[in-house]
Amino acid sequence: MDLKGLKAKSPACRGCSLRPGTRQVVSGSGNPGAGLMLVGEGLGAREDRVGRPFAGAAGQLLGRLLKAAGFRREEVYITNIVKCRPPGNRMPEPAEVEACRPLLDAAIDFVRPQIIVCLGALATRTLVAPGASITRLRGRWIEKDGIRYLPTFHPAALLRDGGKIPLVEEDFRKLRAAYQALHTKQLALTF
Ligand code: URA
Repeated sequence: MDLKGLKAKSPACRGCSLRPGTRQVVSGSGNPGAGLMLVGEGLGAREDRVGRPFAGAAGQLLGRLLKAAGFRREEVYITNIVKCRPPGNRMPEPAEVEACRPLLDAAIDFVRPQIIVCLGALATRTLVAPGASITRLRGRWIEKDGIRYLPTFHPAALLRDGGKIPLVEEDFRKLRAAYQALHTKQLALTF
C-alpha cells in the first residue's frame, strides 16, 4: 500500500501495543519534494500533542542546527522510525520498529530522498547497519540502494551532552555541501 493509503489507515493501527496509549499517529512533516529526509526515533509527549515530529526541545535544537547549515525546517522532510509515542519516552522496541516499518518504507518510496540523515542509533541501526555503533558511524557517508545515508547523534543526546554539538555541526556542514553538489548536478542536467 502507498503512503496515502497507509496514513489513512494509521489511526486504526493495532500493529503494536503503542497506538492505544498515544493520541495520534504522526507520520512526518515538511517538504516531500526536498530530496533530503531526516529520521528520528519516536514521538515524545509534545509531538503526540501537537501532531508534528520534533516539536519539543530536541526539535528546537534540530531546527537551529539545520538553520546553521542553511536549511529551513519546512524545506526538508522529517519523520521517525516509530510514529506513535512510546510510554515514558523509552526507546521503541524491535517489534514496534518492525510494525511501523511499512509506513517508513512508504515515506521513503514517496519522498525518494537522495540523502537520509539518521538521527541517532535507532535510525542508524534500522536503516543502515543493525548493531552499528553511532559513535563509530557518525559523520560517515554510507550508500545503500541508491540513497546516501549520514548517521549523526540524536538531538536529545546533544541536550544531555553539549560537547557533541560541534560534531553534529560538522556533520551538517558536510550534509549542506553534499546536498548543494547534488542540486548543482541536477540543475546542470536540466539545462
Ligand atoms: N521528537 C521526535 O519526533 N523524534 C525523536 O526522535 C525525538 C523527539
